[in-house]
Amino acid sequence: MNPALEAVPSWFWTAAAAVLGAVVGSFLNVCIHRMPRNESLVRPRSHCPGCGTTISWFDNLPVLSWIFLGGKCRGCGMRISPSYAMVETLTALLFVAIWRTFAPAEAFAYAIFACLLIVATFIDFEHFIIPDRITLGSVFAGVVCSGFIPSLQNAERHSAGAFWSLAGAAAGYATLWTVVEIGKKIFGMKRVEFPHPTEVFLTPEGLRFGDESERWEEIFSRESDALRFGAIGIRLGDRSWDQAHVRVNWKEVRVGDEVFPLETLGELMAVTKRLEIPREAMGRGDVKFLAGIGAFLGPQAIFFVIFASSVLGSAFGLLLMLLAKRGWGFKIPYGPYLAAAALLWIFQGANWWAVWARGLGG
Ligand SMILES: [Zn+2]
Repeated sequence: MNPALEAVPSWFWTAAAAVLGAVVGSFLNVCIHRMPRNESLVRPRSHCPGCGTTISWFDNLPVLSWIFLGGKCRGCGMRISPSYAMVETLTALLFVAIWRTFAPAEAFAYAIFACLLIVATFIDFEHFIIPDRITLGSVFAGVVCSGFIPSLQNAERHSAGAFWSLAGAAAGYATLWTVVEIGKKIFGMKRVEFPHPTEVFLTPEGLRFGDESERWEEIFSRESDALRFGAIGIRLGDRSWDQAHVRVNWKEVRVGDEVFPLETLGELMAVTKRLEIPREAMGRGDVKFLAGIGAFLGPQAIFFVIFASSVLGSAFGLLLMLLAKRGWGFKIPYGPYLAAAALLWIFQGANWWAVWARGLGG
């Protein structure tokens, strides 16, 4: 290293990584908020959703402004979600950890990867989707980074780096795709068959028939999930239908060609002989997301990431169930566990896995 640079104390670089992380985290907040709504990432400037005031630069400092403003908008006092400061803090901590663990070129690539993981995690928490721009973007970024920095893939030549990155993306996609398809065959759809036509009630809260009732958030895990059935008769307020097809998703009920918002539905009674209730623990987005993770970490990380994410997911699911006293149907997104497992791999997982695999081999 250049002697002038060597004279700079290491705490300075650590502090610089933290500040850079917080600033980048502030931009990640914009991505998390705007990407699922298909809004531009650069325009307009950040504004308060309560009063519409453009947020000035000194009220937009990462973490600090949130603390000084007491988590409220200066203009109208509307509460600012602590998740903004959380994303900035998390990004800062990860940048520091990455900077202190890896050589500069690898640290640069892993910092980009960490950003993609953070955005995917927070969007998935809120919307139960991971946008293609993030998942396919990760595949692209992973291949490009591995081509320039082949050591990411334990390779020496640039072409080998890009090759193992592509192999990782393919392995990630194919493995999780298979898991999802098998899962669908086994748990994909819960069919309820009634011995004779039965009255089923749909309300803004959920679905009820006989002694059973289920809330919508337990039935639907993704925006694309839909409950479908053919009804012999339907009654809604003072309206009625004969022989109509019913389709329900998280926001609306469709009877034939007519659409009713779920929120203001009141109570819809349908007579039917069978129901098809979607069950899907993972979506297409997770499959593409694991392809993106594979592009950065290589094929050898895929089994660890699937294994560790399912252990983490089950553990947290169980914990949430105990704490919140919610049923088995309680839906949690899977993307955040994939992201957490990918981070475990970067920092220590490769070593743990090697020890474990050696143990298995005797
Ligand atoms: Zn405001």
